Amino acid sequence: MKVIGLTGGIGSGKSTVSAYLRSKGCYIIDADEISRAVTGPGGPALEPILMEFGIKVFNSDGTLDRTALAYQVFSDEEKRKKLEDIVVTMVINEFHAQIEHLKEDGFDGVAVFDAPLLFEFGLEQFCDETWFVNASTETRIARVMRRDGVTRKQVIDRINNQMPSTEKEKLADYIISNSLDEDWLYEQLDRHLYRLGVTN
Ligand code: ADP
Repeated sequence: MKVIGLTGGIGSGKSTVSAYLRSKGCYIIDADEISRAVTGPGGPALEPILMEFGIKVFNSDGTLDRTALAYQVFSDEEKRKKLEDIVVTMVINEFHAQIEHLKEDGFDGVAVFDAPLLFEFGLEQFCDETWFVNASTETRIARVMRRDGVTRKQVIDRINNQMPSTEKEKLADYIISNSLDEDWLYEQLDRHLYRLGVTN
């Protein structure tokens, strides 16, 4: 089994890449999905969050009040770091649990750790190689405006909140260039899959 760390800035096409890799038989471990699950109803992150932040960040039905929590960490770097530590630790644990399951099942293909914050949280250490999906800033802006129905300024703010692409390009083993059409994107992915022995 090979483990690929997949990342990319907003609008780069990371989700499109992930969906294509899934359709080709890769096993996707989705960091965002795990982080939502661990903080969702009955999730294992709720207790440490309660102990760290108190009952004020919970609704009366015991679910997390995400707005209240966001307010708590918004302007407090230390609190934000504590929340991140709680959630990232659980994402990593779940990632390892899924990899162990795959090994037990004798899975011999490609597992993909789909993580927007792969490099920010040092998650590449758990991967055999990393792929960074990138597209020109203008292309990313146009795609997100169309996909999410948001303004140009809103997209630019979101892009500026992320680690610059130039830095991630230096950290990644491979760059997937997605400024052209989807055929070219899939052609690049097929080449990488072939390189890794996935030919179906
Ligand atoms: P991300 O997950 O990186 O934010 P998505 O995969 O959701 O990005 O892509 C953003 C939008 O652009 C989606 O609506 C997607 O269908 C579209 N898209 C992605 N790649 C291409 C491409 N090569 N050509 C045209 N549209 C694309």
